[in-house]
Amino acid sequence: MQDFLKGLPKAELHLHIEGSLEPELMFEIGRRNGVALPFANVEEVRAAYEFNNLQEFLDIYYQGAQVLLHEQDFYDMTFAYLQRCREQNVIHTEMFFDPQTHTDRGVDIGVVIRGLTRAMEDAEAQWGQSSKLILCFLRHLSEEAAMETLRQALPYKQHFVGVGLDSSEVGHPPEKFQRVFEQALNAGLLSVAHAGEEGPPEYIWQALDLLKVKRIDHGVRCIEDAALMQRLIDEQIPLTVCPLSNIKLCVFDSMSEHNILRLLEKGLKVTVNSDDPAYFGGYMNENFIAMQEALPMSKEQAAQLARNSFEASFLTSEEKVRLLARLDQYLQNH
Ligand SMILES: [Zn+2]
Repeated sequence: MQDFLKGLPKAELHLHIEGSLEPELMFEIGRRNGVALPFANVEEVRAAYEFNNLQEFLDIYYQGAQVLLHEQDFYDMTFAYLQRCREQNVIHTEMFFDPQTHTDRGVDIGVVIRGLTRAMEDAEAQWGQSSKLILCFLRHLSEEAAMETLRQALPYKQHFVGVGLDSSEVGHPPEKFQRVFEQALNAGLLSVAHAGEEGPPEYIWQALDLLKVKRIDHGVRCIEDAALMQRLIDEQIPLTVCPLSNIKLCVFDSMSEHNILRLLEKGLKVTVNSDDPAYFGGYMNENFIAMQEALPMSKEQAAQLARNSFEASFLTSEEKVRLLARLDQYLQNH
C-alpha cells in the first residue's frame, strides 16, 4: 500500500513555498547572505518545531524567511521543492507565495517572482514539471497593505493564476479583504482562501460569498455546519486539506481523529496537501502514509483523493484530461 501511495500521480494545491525551506537550506542561504539566525544549528531549528497553535508556528516561519534576499535564494528554495515533487510523483503543483513576508523586509516583489518563476521554468524544461503560482495576502496585516501588495504584483500578473489569504485566521475574517479580492477578480485572477482551520464555519461562508473563492484551503471545520456541508457538496467546492499540518498545529489531537475520510465519504471534494512541509514533518507522500497508518484508508479512497487533486486544480480542461489519463494508467497497472 505504501508503495502504491508513493507512486500515485497526484497534484498539490496547498503548499506555501516559504514553508518548504528546509533548515539545511535556511542555514546555507543565511550564511551566504550574512543573515544570522536565532538558532545555533539545524538540530536547534528542528527542536523549535514543536508548536501548540498556528501563531507559534508563524513566529518561527517568519524568522526563517528572513534569510531570503536575492533572486537566487527564491530560486533555490523553489527548485528544491519542485525536486521533491518529482521524487514523490506530484506531477502538478499550485504553490502559494507570501510577497509581504519579503517586501516588508525591503525585498522587491519582482525579485521574489523572478526567482520563483525561473525555478518553475527550469523544472518544466528538465523533467516536465507542471506548476502554477498563487499570491497570498497576510490576513493579520491591513486591508491597505494587501491592496498595496496587489498593486505591486499586477505588473507580474502573467506569472500567477490567483490570489489567496493565509496567516493567522482567528480575528481576521475574509470580509476584511472583500475589496482587495474584488480588484483581483476584476483583474482576471482566481481566488482561494484559508478558512475553517482554526476559524469558525462562518469564515467559510464569507470566503464563498464575499471572496468568491473557487477552493477552500483547509475547511475541516465545515463539519460543524450541516447547511455549509450541503452547499460544499452541491457545488463541489474543493477543500485542500493538510493532515500532518492539522496534527502539528493541534487542529486534531491525533491523525486517527482526523475527519478527512469522513468528509470524502460524505461526498466533499477533498484533497491531500502538505501546507508547510519543512515545518510539519513531511511532503505529500508522508501525508498519505501518515493517513494510511492511522485511518482506514482504502486504495480506492487514496485514488479518489488523487483524482480530486487534478479535478480541483486550476489547469485547463485539456491539461486535466492529460494528467488524469496518467493517473488512470497508473491505477490500471497497480
Ligand atoms: Zn496553508
